[in-house]
Amino acid sequence: MTEFEFIYNFLVRQHDDDVLLGIGDDAAIVRPRAGYDLCFSSDMLISGKHFFADAAPEDIAHKVLAVNVSDMAAMGATPRWVLLSAAFPELDMLWLNKFCGTLFEKLSQYDISLIGGDTTKGNLTFNITIIGELPQGQALKRSGAKLGDDVWVSGQVGMAAAALDGYLGKVVFPEAVWQECRQKYLRPVPRVALGRELLLLAHAAQDISDGLAQDLGHILKASGVGAELWADRVPILPALRGCAPVEQIRAWQLSGGDDYELLFTAPEAVRAQILAAGEASGTQLSRIGKIIKGTKLRILDDAGGEIHLHKTGFDHFG
Ligand code: ADP
Ligand code: MG
Repeated sequence: MTEFEFIYNFLVRQHDDDVLLGIGDDAAIVRPRAGYDLCFSSDMLISGKHFFADAAPEDIAHKVLAVNVSDMAAMGATPRWVLLSAAFPELDMLWLNKFCGTLFEKLSQYDISLIGGDTTKGNLTFNITIIGELPQGQALKRSGAKLGDDVWVSGQVGMAAAALDGYLGKVVFPEAVWQECRQKYLRPVPRVALGRELLLLAHAAQDISDGLAQDLGHILKASGVGAELWADRVPILPALRGCAPVEQIRAWQLSGGDDYELLFTAPEAVRAQILAAGEASGTQLSRIGKIIKGTKLRILDDAGGEIHLHKTGFDHFG
């Protein structure tokens, strides 16, 4: 199969009316709705680094889209269009069929159009550039956290990092726990509906990709504030608690990455509305800390003792 057979036989599909020019020209043209700002982000996945070299094509497709959609969720944006740049060692029809099957299934689930990209030969690598819409002037930035804000997190945190240790053979989990953790690692669910609900409610937000402690640190730095984080309140799959010592569980939760849950701050006054936003979007929400004066992140256990992490998160060059 040639590059152009791949592009025209696998990638060209029906798209929404807001795509004025899709795949096939030198560039794509889209028309945003009146009253919206455009929001852009890009995330790259490399074989052997972000996924195992022998990972299933369906899982890779899921993840490369999910991590990008998650960045839109973290802004409160609605994802609309993507460009996919990919390097393949070879164009294997069977592999690409599976990859594109999941990719287009997920794109249609989120009502996103694939409008362009690039295809080259090389080590298996994917980059998606995603474009979303935000009601004009609204966004969930990292810089808005205020003194006294509650710190909230969606879903359960730490399972993806536990799964990674499972894959690396460091821990063996009971089958049911392993399946749940694997699912979370391979197929994260971006919190788009929640993000949208949080517009005008949350002061600051970001998604957890590199570790809760490190990612909360980004909000603190951008906002010029400190925080208390209550480690024992961070939710996790209950059955996972019995599978490892508490220090290990905390490391998965606080320094592990790949959760793609939303971490956000909001004033106490809107607690009831936040919980309603969780219900409206079908997302479990937990209050796990408080924004305080200063610039530091203090991590406390339920007894009030301070926890010092070995590392706060993942850094490619760290
Ligand atoms: P150019 O030479 O201008 O870079 P290409 O020949 O690489 O154009 O691509 C032809 C068309 O196919 C363009 O519209 C481009 O956006 C699209 N395209 C190429 N690769 C991909 C891909 N992996 N996903 C989506 N669209 C792609
Ligand atoms: Mg090109």
